[in-house]
Amino acid sequence: MIAPALQDDDFLADVARARADAISEKMFVWWLGQSGFLICHRGNCLLFDPYLSDALTKKYAATDKPHVRMTARVIDPARLDFLSAVTSSHNHTDHFDTETLAPIFAASPAMKLVLPAANVDFAVERLGDAARARLMLLTDGQRATVGPFTIETVPAAHEALSPTFAGFVVSVGPFRIYHSGDTVLFPGMIERLRPFGVDLALLPINGRAPERRVAGNLNGVEAAQLARAISARWVVPCHYEMFEFNTASPASFVAECARLDQPGAVVRAGERWTIFPTA
Ligand SMILES: [Zn+2]
Repeated sequence: MIAPALQDDDFLADVARARADAISEKMFVWWLGQSGFLICHRGNCLLFDPYLSDALTKKYAATDKPHVRMTARVIDPARLDFLSAVTSSHNHTDHFDTETLAPIFAASPAMKLVLPAANVDFAVERLGDAARARLMLLTDGQRATVGPFTIETVPAAHEALSPTFAGFVVSVGPFRIYHSGDTVLFPGMIERLRPFGVDLALLPINGRAPERRVAGNLNGVEAAQLARAISARWVVPCHYEMFEFNTASPASFVAECARLDQPGAVVRAGERWTIFPTA
């Protein structure tokens, strides 16, 4: 099992230290495994697509598709009591996990869950009717504001485009963060994303390996190329090292970033990473 750089109490202490810096114009980023990222700016925090349980390992335990966890959980979701917003890009359990979201709803009573409008029935069924007032439902191109965060929905093609899949571009302070959700490249994607001036792109790399075709996501080479094509200042790979059957090495991502002169950062789960504004 891969140990996160920081976990549990140590992780929370690090987040608290970062949040205490409410003045300087920096953004703090932690990968929480799979597609989960916590970002904090001036003490306010947003969490992308958290999967912080063993729901899938339990669900598939006795099947021919065992979801053996590779990286230990960074944090108990019940302890995330400081969140302004959480996203869910689509309904697959590694992006919408009731065992993660229900404790977060209880711990962070002011938090809003941002998700594609097409997924409202699914969300209410899983989280209960009381959660309805805390859902921010967005269709393609719509925007919502939660505290200092403005979240705009962009399309995602988990093989095919669908209103039940989304990516998000979050604006906070001087920063734009693109979280693609699960997606492959699709026509018009680059033209849609480039105008945002993305500072940080968070992209999956587990897909479409030439020798082991896993449908639905970018591979490492494509992730680096997409980041370059939209002129992202930084790109961080994700969606690997969570389940043994569905992982990837970041090596091809790293090599392609180097070839393209695209700044990319491979981060460890639970490790704090700081982005500064452009001068
Ligand atoms: Zn996924």
